[in-house]
Amino acid sequence: MMNMYDIKQEIIDVANRLYEKNLNGGYGGNLSIKVENIIYITRGGIPKVNLTPEDIAIIDIEGNFIEGKPSSEYKMHLYTYQKNAQIKAIVHAHPPYTMGFSIGPTDIPTELFPETSMLIGKVHISPFFPSGSNELAEDIADRFANGAIAVLMEKHGISVVSTTSLWDAYYKLEAIEHVAMAYTTHTILKEARR
Ligand SMILES: [Zn+2]
Repeated sequence: MMNMYDIKQEIIDVANRLYEKNLNGGYGGNLSIKVENIIYITRGGIPKVNLTPEDIAIIDIEGNFIEGKPSSEYKMHLYTYQKNAQIKAIVHAHPPYTMGFSIGPTDIPTELFPETSMLIGKVHISPFFPSGSNELAEDIADRFANGAIAVLMEKHGISVVSTTSLWDAYYKLEAIEHVAMAYTTHTILKEARR
């Protein structure tokens, strides 16, 4: 069983990896881990790099604030955990190629590659809702309740869940961004050969 220090450190480590790999930047993104009925989640209004344990807020599954002030997008995490008790971690980030697909929005063709087809299946698409709104939180939580592993958020970014760990959610997000990069390259090459 992870203690509070380990849980916060895992969020800090994954956030740093996202930043180093150019999978998240600016002030965007938020990460959370649920252990029993407690949710550990990054606070809002700060770049998600070199976080300290004080930057990880704690809320309970009812939505009560226990420690610190969570990200303005916390309801997306809260509702997701409420609607699907199997989910243990959520990564939400703004990876640039994935964001490109989110403008359309256009499917990220994860089913083209055996690995991502098996690991992730289809990336669901959530229509545009304002960041931090109840509608956005409800729409995404419903998709995760219905079995989605990844949801592309129109003109925004992506959220990925895991039933095992935050690192698992991270690697799935990384794999999706690689598909988005690969497919972008494919599209450019196809145009160049015309
Ligand atoms: Zn966001």
